Formats: sequence, C-alpha cells, structure tokens
Amino acid sequence: THTNQAWIDARTQHVPRGVVTAHPIFAERAQGSLLWDAEGRRYIDFVGGIGVQNVGHNHPRVVAAVQSQLTRVSHAAFQVVGYDHYVTLAEKLNTLVGGGEPFQTLLATTGAEAVENAIKIARAYRNVPGVIAFRGGFHGRTLLGSTLTGMSTPYKQNFGPLAGDIYHTPYPDDYLGVSGDDALQALEELFATQIAPERVAAILLEPVQGDGGFRPAGIAFLKKLRALADHHGIVLILDEVQTGFGRTGKMFGFQHAGIQPDLVTVAKSLAGGLPLSGVVGKRHIMEAPTPGGLGGTYAGNPLACAAALAVLDVFEEESLLEQGERLGSLLRAGLDALAAQFPVIGTVRGVGPMLALEFVRNGDPRQPDADMAQRVIDLCRADGLLVIKCGVYRNTLRLLAPLNTPQDIAQEALGILGTAIAKASS
Ligand code: PMP
Repeated sequence: THTNQAWIDARTQHVPRGVVTAHPIFAERAQGSLLWDAEGRRYIDFVGGIGVQNVGHNHPRVVAAVQSQLTRVSHAAFQVVGYDHYVTLAEKLNTLVGGGEPFQTLLATTGAEAVENAIKIARAYRNVPGVIAFRGGFHGRTLLGSTLTGMSTPYKQNFGPLAGDIYHTPYPDDYLGVSGDDALQALEELFATQIAPERVAAILLEPVQGDGGFRPAGIAFLKKLRALADHHGIVLILDEVQTGFGRTGKMFGFQHAGIQPDLVTVAKSLAGGLPLSGVVGKRHIMEAPTPGGLGGTYAGNPLACAAALAVLDVFEEESLLEQGERLGSLLRAGLDALAAQFPVIGTVRGVGPMLALEFVRNGDPRQPDADMAQRVIDLCRADGLLVIKCGVYRNTLRLLAPLNTPQDIAQEALGILGTAIAKASS
C-alpha cells in the first residue's frame, strides 16, 4: 500500500506541475462532510472537490441513482439518440431558473464548457462580438474561459494569444471601498472609451465571485446591471457554477437580488460529483444557434443526469436550502468571533453558507497576507480540516462545506480553524 508521500512522489513524476494538488494527500474514500486519505486519516472536508459536494460526498440517493442508470445506459450521446433524464433535468432546471417563463437548457460537461456555450449563444443571438467580464472573475481554463477570467497569474500568462473582443471592468468590493456605483461608473466609462454598448453581446459575472475571493456583487449592483443590460439589449449572463445549488443559501445567487438573468451557467454541485454542466436561459436566446452548433460527445451524460435528478430530489426532500441557511448562520457566528479575536483576519465575507476569511497585515485591506492564509490552511489540514484559498491575491480562506454538515462537525471545524489561526499568528 502507498503512503500519501509515495503517491505525491509518483504524481510529481508522471503528472505536470501545471495541475496543482493543493493538499499533499490522496483520497481513499469520502462520505458526507468527511474524507479519509490513503493512510486512513480522517478529515472534515470543507472543499468538497471545489464546491461540488453541496449534498455531501456519496449521498446515498445519488449513488443509487447512478448505479441504477449504469445498468440501463451509461452513454448514448444526446446528439445521436435522446434519453429521458436529459429532458427531465432540462425541464426541472428551466423551472428552477426561469420560474414560469419559457426557458431552455443545454447540457454540457464542465463549468468552462457551460461558459463557452453561453458566450456562443449570446453572440449568435446578438450577432455582435463584444463580451464584458469582471476583474477577479473566474470562468474556467479553456482558452475562452481563461480569457474571460479576470486574473493574470497563473490562468492567463503564457497561454496567449487569448480570445478576442473580451473586456474587463472592476467588480464591486466593499472591503476595498469599491461600491456597486463605482463599478457601474467604470462600466459606463468602458462603453465610452473601449467598446460601444451596441457592439456588446453579453455581460458575464458571478453573483458572488468564487475563486476571486467570495466577493458579493451586491443586490443593488445586480439590479442596476439588469436594467442597464435591458436598456442596451445586452444578454446578461450569471455564472452560477460555484454559487448555484444552495451555496449562497438560495438555489441560485441571483435570486437574492430578485432579478431574472437571460442566461445562467451551472455545473459543480449540480450532479453531486459527476461531471455535468449546463446553460439555462430564455428560450428566444437559447434558440439562436442553428442545429448542430451546440453539443459534445459526453454533454449531458446519462449517469450525470441521473445524479443531478437525485441531487434536486435531495434538495426538496431534505430541505437542503434551510439546512444551508442554518449552517451559514452557525459558521458566520464562529468566523465573526474569530475575527474579533485575531487581528490577522481583515474581514469575514460571503453570503449564506458561502463564507470566507481574508487575511491582511496591519489591519490594512491593501496589505493582503497570502503567506498567513497558506499557513492557516496547512495547519488546518494537519489538524484534520481541509480548506482552500481564493482571492486575487490568494489571501482569502474559503469554506465550501456540504449544506447538510452536522452541527457538531461544523463546530469541530471552527475549533480547528481557531487553533490554526492562533498558531499561525503567534
Ligand atoms: N465558473 C466558475 C464561477 C467557477 O467557479 C468555475 C470553477 N471553479 C468555473 C466556471 C469552471 O468550471 P470547471 O472547472 O468545471 O471548468
């Protein structure tokens, strides 16, 4: 049997460094909010494969649905022959995102692919090329995805030439003193100096930036952006790949603002660990690409669709949104208490159970402390808690706990986090 270190050595030899492994451990099995490594050590997993396990690892409903589908048909390619789960899932997502309005869903495999398709659909509909994205946004690692991403290193550097007609504008950040109105003004300036609004097909943003630091766009900003997009006929795309499926306490992040996006991208927790993504959008926009323009061999794979249908059942049957709200309040109270105790914590940020701690030097928002964030993360792992960082300056520690994490495990995690911060800052 291999130790973690033996596996790390082998991976260093056989797998390129371009794909990192944040924690030097190898997973053996996982259940709910817990994960065990190759040496049998138990961890509380507040990463969940980067926001994929909102229902928890290996939820029995998801496992059963996939097992049953596996013996029916595991792959058929929806472009060749249809299958029920694709259409049933599309119908459910259309209702969840669109309410009663006529919506349609395209399924794909990864978050980046969903974003790519959303941009293609918006361009086909508007027949103009421009896309506006936000600084600090993350939209995937494909060429268009990394172009849309608003962070240079390591996502964009050395991979050019990047895709054309993409513009970046500032995203609101309360902690740095950038208000929603400041961000809107910057967008108006972009229209005046870089690209006229009639040349813009889409505005793309996360309702709460994930990789960019768990920064909420803010309700007022989202509402004003909706009005501005309506005014110019621009397609408003909400990237809900990380915020979707209860991460912010509501099914989707945009619902906090009471707006209706034109297109929404979903992935991650949609299928509880199986690779599945989608674009859910207004029918007249979704119908713009001509037959054959959309799809992919594995897009909307039947096993993944079966898993997603089970995930949506779990949300209803286990009142997962309410559970998530409760978890969010518990974690927020714990993090606020830590922030009051430890000056290295600049701010606690997030929406519902999508929560993060930002580490700074001298209590100054302009002095990000990435080393402190890394020390805390490493100390947490040593004590049995898995967390990862985020933020443009990588100085923010994010929590992506399963929404049904039991209270005692959440308390245990807060305890480990507090001890780690105490050690790291002493
Ligand atoms: N958009 C957002 C908001 C994301 O958080 C991510 C993944 N972190 C992506 C897109 C890309 O998803 P994937 O890694 O599945 O391509």
